[in-house]
Amino acid sequence: MDYPWLLPVWQKLLSLFNQQRLPHALLLVGQKGVGKSYLAQRLAKLLLCQSPGEKACGRCRACYLAQAHPDYFCAEKGTGIEDVRAVIQFFTQSAHQDGKKVAILLNVDQMQPAATHALLKILEEPPQKRCFILTCEQITHLLPTLKSRCLILNVALQSEKALSWLGSIYPEKTASDLKWALAFSEGGPLNVKAILSSKMVDLWREPLYDLFFTEGGLVDDALEAFIIANLKVVLFLLYYWLVDCARSFFHCQSYFTYREVELKKQKAWLKRVAPQKIFAFLDRLNQAVKSLSLPGVNKLLLWEKILYQWRGLSEGKMMLGQL
Ligand SMILES: [Zn+2]
Repeated sequence: MDYPWLLPVWQKLLSLFNQQRLPHALLLVGQKGVGKSYLAQRLAKLLLCQSPGEKACGRCRACYLAQAHPDYFCAEKGTGIEDVRAVIQFFTQSAHQDGKKVAILLNVDQMQPAATHALLKILEEPPQKRCFILTCEQITHLLPTLKSRCLILNVALQSEKALSWLGSIYPEKTASDLKWALAFSEGGPLNVKAILSSKMVDLWREPLYDLFFTEGGLVDDALEAFIIANLKVVLFLLYYWLVDCARSFFHCQSYFTYREVELKKQKAWLKRVAPQKIFAFLDRLNQAVKSLSLPGVNKLLLWEKILYQWRGLSEGKMMLGQL
């Protein structure tokens, strides 16, 4: 297994496969970058392999064809009605090998209603020997009827395993930097590479910290553009930093505030803020992150509201009731 944190869910899939109890529709649920798509493809290969063991054999004709296998279909990016129609069309054609066909549909939580209804129809009366592998991040966005037709498997991140895996890939990085990059990538270890290579962490960490934790911290156009484009990540960061602040009240070690200069700023900031307000603001950030996943949310407005409330908090003007 390339990604050690996926092992428990893979073993579950393998056991279902070995007992021939895999249902016609599986739904893999997990955060972005945790490896859902990798798992879906690994399972598809196993299902089509002519000599499967703990995984696809890698030597048979089916394995050799891999993603070019005529009984394999993956709607990689699409979540529209035409993508679902393409899957239905694929399933209705006869199979090339032994009758089995496998289709992967990613991010079904982002589907438009028409596509969802088309998908529901085929899930209701699935053709024989067809397997659907669906993935999603936000299971709460799915219709109950869709969920009830799938076997749901949670693809959970085990942070310690993910961090030791990252440590083996980036031996030059410190454990704190990797923990930070993992948080920055919304906890998806497969996104960490992009985060580290884009230098995003190095570029924006200091301005963001200054904005939040120094008196009269400023936000210029470039910083604001970055924040709006990465609002979820920024809210997560603020959340983690704030958790560190709360931890410091109990004399616990910080997780994400580990640079000397930040610890100094944190100390000064904490003198100006009442502890109970920090806990209330954590709730507020949680709500803001949740509301970001609602369709049509105005990110700029949401950000301005958060910043306004944050400044109120730091300047000691905000009452608990306003949170
Ligand atoms: Zn094989």
